[in-house]
Amino acid sequence: MKKQFIVLGLGRFGSSLTRALINNGHEVLAVDKNENLVQEMSTIATHVVQADCTDKSVLMELGASNFSHAIVAIGEDLQASILTTLLLKELHVPQVTAKAKNDNHGSVLSKIGADRIVYPERDMATRLGNQLSSDNIIDSIELSPDYNLVEIKAPESMNQKTLQELNIRAEYGCTVIAIKTGSDLNISPMAEDTICTGDMLLLIGSNEDIRNLESDYG
Ligand code: ADP
Repeated sequence: MKKQFIVLGLGRFGSSLTRALINNGHEVLAVDKNENLVQEMSTIATHVVQADCTDKSVLMELGASNFSHAIVAIGEDLQASILTTLLLKELHVPQVTAKAKNDNHGSVLSKIGADRIVYPERDMATRLGNQLSSDNIIDSIELSPDYNLVEIKAPESMNQKTLQELNIRAEYGCTVIAIKTGSDLNISPMAEDTICTGDMLLLIGSNEDIRNLESDYG
């Protein structure tokens, strides 16, 4: 379903986010005070406006309160990030997602009512760190500080074994939630499903359990 978003701040994060939303078929009103960035986004976003989003009357003129979702993509200028988030909540925007530079910034944003806080640099670094630390991990999503959803290349030593034979949940406490074979995705695999070389496994587990599984099979 097509949705309408307002993105405030068109730096590296805001402009990439705008592109992704547009590529997914949504409408985006993109706002930045920098004329060059506004110019660059004018061929991409649905509407682009050069404005200072820390000014309440500007946000009202832009009809910010009509959007169900706003994204505050300002990281460097803490004052602008905080003020914009506060104004959007004052204007009753139901969902405000704000980008934080660090934990302190994030806790201020949370106190003033941001509905969701994202830490792009920290999260990307964690994902990259997890991927680089392992020969098998292709991707990982942090579910909590202790739990991850990871995509791993099935190690050679699992070839032609069923999930029952591998007994991963009992032995390691990790759950295989899907097996990818080429473009086929087997969601909620059965105990008798066999793993073959080249398969990808999606599994959930604690960081320690995943590490143990990897080091035993790697
Ligand atoms: P990134 O790391 O994603 O590049 P930055 O914090 O460096 O993020 O960039 C934030 C963007 O937000 C910049 O393009 C800047 O011009 C814009 N910005 C900052 N303050 C305001 C404001 N008060 N009104 C509108 N745009 C702003």
